[in-house]
Amino acid sequence: MTTFETLGLSPALLRALTETGYTTPTPIQAEAIPLVLGGHDVLGGAQTGTGKTAAFGLPLLQRLAKETPPKGPRKPRALILVPTRELAVQVSDNLKAYGRHLRMNVTTIFGGAGMQPQIDNLRRGVDILVACPGRLLDHMDSGHAKLDAVELLVLDEADRMLDMGFLPQMKRILGRVPKARQTLLFSATFEPRIKALALEFMRDPKQVQVAANSTIADTIAHRAHPVDNSRKRDLLVDLLSKRHTDQVLVFGKTKHGCNRLAEQLAESGLPSVAIHGNKSQAQRQKALDAFKSGRARILVATDVAARGLDIPNLPLVINHDLPMVAEDYVHRIGRTGRNGASGEALSLVSPEEGGLLRQIQRMLKAEIDMSAVEGYEPSQPVRLDTPIPKNGGGQRRQPAGGRPGARMGEQKPGGQRPPRKPAARGHGKPQERGAHAHAGPRPHRQGAGRPQGARQDTRA
Ligand code: AMP
Repeated sequence: MTTFETLGLSPALLRALTETGYTTPTPIQAEAIPLVLGGHDVLGGAQTGTGKTAAFGLPLLQRLAKETPPKGPRKPRALILVPTRELAVQVSDNLKAYGRHLRMNVTTIFGGAGMQPQIDNLRRGVDILVACPGRLLDHMDSGHAKLDAVELLVLDEADRMLDMGFLPQMKRILGRVPKARQTLLFSATFEPRIKALALEFMRDPKQVQVAANSTIADTIAHRAHPVDNSRKRDLLVDLLSKRHTDQVLVFGKTKHGCNRLAEQLAESGLPSVAIHGNKSQAQRQKALDAFKSGRARILVATDVAARGLDIPNLPLVINHDLPMVAEDYVHRIGRTGRNGASGEALSLVSPEEGGLLRQIQRMLKAEIDMSAVEGYEPSQPVRLDTPIPKNGGGQRRQPAGGRPGARMGEQKPGGQRPPRKPAARGHGKPQERGAHAHAGPRPHRQGAGRPQGARQDTRA
């Protein structure tokens, strides 16, 4: 049996792992740790929830701890690039926990927070820098962040960084990191643009993968309610008022929509908080703390804001809006059904979202049970052959403010705009990722399907 000991980790790390409560390596850890310790470049196919942070973090700490840092002020020897500030904080917290018995300085750099404290931290000396690309470039341009001592580079959630338009920034940063280095790239998918990135910036990378489907727990029941867009909020209030589950994560499409939804839920006596890219770091942390502590029963989030959040296992995840990219459905529902617990993924699907539902069903390789709620029947049926809106009503894949990878991309990821009327149907081509050539109309099975929902037969 693979254990953290057999993976070759040092006593200081093993002690920290015991203290953290990890007993057995996850599959991605079992595969990646020996490769990283062996000095290989690694291309890891894994998403949040698989234990990928420790998969790169543990061997990274061990490699850095082996060498004595060069004399003089300590410059970062490891750089971890991440798409969002939440992920930056999370990765840094994890590294601090794993490295608690090593003397390692870990610092975060992200936008939406003051420059000066970050400059002060950089001046004090850093071993490991966890950074979002935009703000890191600011510090590089002003001469405060020096990357010439970087031996280890990690691109965490690389696909998401590309989605957010960070490629130009990433390339600039990669151009300033020494060529003689070890590079680790983690991404939920190995789509062509990730492969291109690996080809350009990695040396003979070893590929490890936790199959995308295997991250969908087979204990999750997937269900959907067809409903008109204009009635979704009422339906949500109704459903949540009737159910007394402990905590619920609700996904919305836009920042604006999430705010309004949280307000409406709160007005209806359902304590809710919203988390999205427009909020300050302090506000987001406050919202997350309120949810984690149970003060708020409902957390309403956008995909980008929720990305990488360390949210405990939840009984219920609700998609107020379907994601534009089918893979995001997996990220969203990854918050439920963990470790054998049963979970439920409930989607409110408007007639305009039929095409998005088709994408998700294709990815799940199963049909999702659809049943209308009395009093909320949609004005027209949800048809799976409905064309996918060109820009999904303003979800992501549009750089913030129209500028590719805008500097404030960490704060305004993905160009989420206020909701639009779902009128842009049938024009233009579907989104590049996750939009498959559709195989023609499929029968709509409202109220039909398997009694227990579409269950997956693969497990995490
Ligand atoms: P990650 O995919 O790195 O975001 O990790 C997801 C969650 O799993 C985090 O809460 C980690 O603390 C936890 N975790 C990671 N590795 C292990 C492990 N080997 N045993 C138990 N929990 C773990």
